[in-house]
Amino acid sequence: MTNLIKCALCGGATSMVSEAGAIHLYKCHSCGNEFPVRVHFVDKPIPLGIKVFKAVVTATDSKAARKAQIQVRKVFGGMANFYPADLDRQILQGESVWDLGFYSADEVAKLEQSAANIGLEVQFVPS
Ligand SMILES: [Zn+2]
Repeated sequence: MTNLIKCALCGGATSMVSEAGAIHLYKCHSCGNEFPVRVHFVDKPIPLGIKVFKAVVTATDSKAARKAQIQVRKVFGGMANFYPADLDRQILQGESVWDLGFYSADEVAKLEQSAANIGLEVQFVPS
């Protein structure tokens, strides 16, 4: 589904990937950028980052990265806003800090619990 919202970084076409009340999350088709948009009923949606958290995992070395990759897939698998291919791309590019997308406070509570259960360290950065 395409729409009028353009990527804030590259101007590419986007799709809505998640909807939580008045906050919709969009993902760019071109560069993979994700950003929250607050929807106004009478107005054009404007980007606004409230009550969403960006999930970040830091892998210190390649051995830690392999372990964390499996753990991340376990914890985030099934989340509408998690893209395994996007994670693989970041790992392939040698990134040590992984951007795992944006999540609502409710989702963060669940993710924190399952991450703690298997010993994965995830930071949730308020957007
Ligand atoms: Zn883009």
